[in-house]
Amino acid sequence: MRLVVLGGGESGVGTAILGKKKGYDVFLSDFGKIKNNYKEVLALNDITWEEEKHTEELILNADVVMKSPGIPDKSPIIKALHEKGISVISEIEFASEFTEVETIGITGSNGKTTTTMLTHHLLKQGSLNFGLAGNIGKSFAWQIAENKHEGYVLELSSFQLDGIKSYRPHIAVITNISPDHLDRYEYKYELYVAAKFRITMNQTESDFLVYDADDEIISKWLESNPIKAQKIPFSLTKVVEGGIYVKNDTIISNITNEEFTMPINELSLEGKHNVKNAMAATAVAQLMRIRKETIRESLSNFQGVEHRLEKVLKIQNVQYINDSKATNTNATFFALDSMNTPTVWIVGGVDKGNDYDELMSLVREKVKAIVCLGVDNQKIINAFGNVVDVIVETASMQEAVKIAQKLSEKGDTVLLSPACASFDLFESYEDRGKQFKIAVQNL
Ligand code: ADP
Repeated sequence: MRLVVLGGGESGVGTAILGKKKGYDVFLSDFGKIKNNYKEVLALNDITWEEEKHTEELILNADVVMKSPGIPDKSPIIKALHEKGISVISEIEFASEFTEVETIGITGSNGKTTTTMLTHHLLKQGSLNFGLAGNIGKSFAWQIAENKHEGYVLELSSFQLDGIKSYRPHIAVITNISPDHLDRYEYKYELYVAAKFRITMNQTESDFLVYDADDEIISKWLESNPIKAQKIPFSLTKVVEGGIYVKNDTIISNITNEEFTMPINELSLEGKHNVKNAMAATAVAQLMRIRKETIRESLSNFQGVEHRLEKVLKIQNVQYINDSKATNTNATFFALDSMNTPTVWIVGGVDKGNDYDELMSLVREKVKAIVCLGVDNQKIINAFGNVVDVIVETASMQEAVKIAQKLSEKGDTVLLSPACASFDLFESYEDRGKQFKIAVQNL
């Protein structure tokens, strides 16, 4: 059997290694450049590869093709494969065919990484030997090749889910759904929503779907599309039977016979969105039979994830917060919502069709000054010009942070929560967050 792997990043290299181990004739092709450390691994495993091209003769003779999530369906090589009727799958699909272990699959528009890491933390503290994979760290396929874990918590993007056929998570989590990545779904929201729900398509009556019952898109979809998995709702706003919810500032779960409660102010993570993430992770931990004492302790000692409402430093009693991962308005909404003191807001970057109306009342209430940090800031200026007295344009992170310091006074917060992608001035959101932290440290 010939396996062709398209894309020589983390998931591609992992798939190639697993394929080789399972006896496939493996060929890896990347249209860009492959990193040197991956080249070394491929050589060690005797896997042939090419870079900066896709040679059709070496690809169109495949029995199965693994496509990395970054490659769009409309690219010429994928079209050619479809025309020839060759099966194109994702890394998650390929790897799951070689393992019987349970997985917990976590998807959604925002909160995937936080919920995945928190869930993994809870299971680990409960002594389950679960690995962490998907869009985080070492790829799932690579870890299946190494075979070290009794199960996995997987962060799954809609692109990973597009390429599944038989993958069946024992527990699926959908954190929320808001418009994102629509360029990859013909600008049709319903296609993006359907991609997220593919996580449930192979589940059976013995499986579970944990989901946000306050999310209208999710509720609507569930009303018209019956699923086999048992539904476990979570809610910030109402009591949900057989689910987990908040009442009197306390999380209450009646998922299992053993009632679980925890006051919100004991959670280590701040913000309403993180209460949701904590409820989702708790639901999974309870379904995995982790003791409630362990869950409570783990929720209160979780360290948080870099670039997500990360507290950087307090300088002259001004708190600097790095939320560089907020690449859409929904994420920024929750960041602003969780601000307790007057806020100097650093915002901007590559606009993804943002609608700033949803932020208007929060900005009015919490933001004292806006520092724009993008190549094109006009939309932000138009949206908030009449709402906030001070709006300043800047051209570098260093300048943005210096001006934010000048505009702030004792007791304020300086928040980087861009609501935009980072590619105009930075390599990635990580690069943007790191530059912010360095600029703050240099103040
Ligand atoms: P993802 O992996 O889905 O991008 P992250 O956990 O990395 O999600 O968080 C991305 C951004 O969204 C961060 O700015 C974070 O503060 C914010 N966020 C986290 N959880 C949620 C949630 N449940 N709803 C909305 N925004 C969230």
